[in-house]
Amino acid sequence: HAKAAGRNNFKLYDESMTRDSADRLRMENDLHEAIDRGEMRVYYQPQFDCASGVLVGAEALLRWQRPGQGLVPPGEFVLLAEDTGLIVPIGAWVLREACMQLRRWEDATGERLRVAVNLSPRQLEADDLLSTVSRALEAAALPASRLELEITENAIVRDTLSTATVLAQLRALGIAIAIDDFGVGYSSLAYLRDLPVDKFKIDRSFLNAVPGSPSDTRLTAALIAMAHTLQVGLVAEGVESREQFDFLREHGCHEAQGYYLGRPMTAEEFEALIRQARRPLVQQA
Ligand code: C2E
Ligand code: MG
Ligand code: MG
Ligand code: MG
Repeated sequence: HAKAAGRNNFKLYDESMTRDSADRLRMENDLHEAIDRGEMRVYYQPQFDCASGVLVGAEALLRWQRPGQGLVPPGEFVLLAEDTGLIVPIGAWVLREACMQLRRWEDATGERLRVAVNLSPRQLEADDLLSTVSRALEAAALPASRLELEITENAIVRDTLSTATVLAQLRALGIAIAIDDFGVGYSSLAYLRDLPVDKFKIDRSFLNAVPGSPSDTRLTAALIAMAHTLQVGLVAEGVESREQFDFLREHGCHEAQGYYLGRPMTAEEFEALIRQARRPLVQQA
């Protein structure tokens, strides 16, 4: 009996392994076609100036409208796209799309906002990144100052020297560089000294327990103070409550983003937000 059960367990395990790798293979095949089939979508999450409550821009967030699977979040396919290198053409598409969308919003509303695009380490390593970025801006007739590129700490530590060169070239064009998920990567503080960076995005895990946990609250306050001292910009991500937003404003955090202020949304929904946000979203006390 025990033997039969064992065999049974093994069989179940075996089948699920096979299914997993078959799923992965199917996903990889589908991902190859996804751009050409027009299945990629960009959602936009609003970013606000903390002090004034004014809408300042959007973070572009990738989604995949996969047939039969609904809207697939990046957590389910970006790693695979990175492993296969597909993130390079997909990321280039996101850059072009986000810039074109910023152009459409400006033409429709007259508002000059900024868009932040996530870059994968693979894109940073590609030797045509600079021209990909320049062409995306040119095609949308946008100055470089309207684009921000987000990279994670882990992308930076992969290859500090050539990364520093690429970042310096991007900044020379006038593009702002933001360190995403700041504080949770495996990097040393030395890169704060060595790398050209314009702003930090504090990882949302720090804000999670603010203001409930005194230690997390102190740490977040210290990160804000550090950004002031280093004279770099600071964005808090994952703002989910009024209390958190008030805390950020009191401590002089520059910008904020999170479900409390606005979820990622379609370009059409974002345009409605632009029109509505002409009046500051957050009333001053
Ligand atoms: P990220 O760049 O750190 O983006 C922020 C993520 O946090 C987004 O998840 C966003 O929807 C989510 N978020 C925003 N506010 C809140 C909040 O108040 N509470 C909580 N719990 N979550 C919040 P999303 O859209 O699923 O993206 C996940 C990650 O996928 C991104 O993290 C980014 O690393 C990656 N990603 C997204 N788009 C792209 C892209 O175009 N290229 C690359 N290479 N990576 C991308
Ligand atoms: Mg990001
Ligand atoms: Mg982040
Ligand atoms: Mg993240």
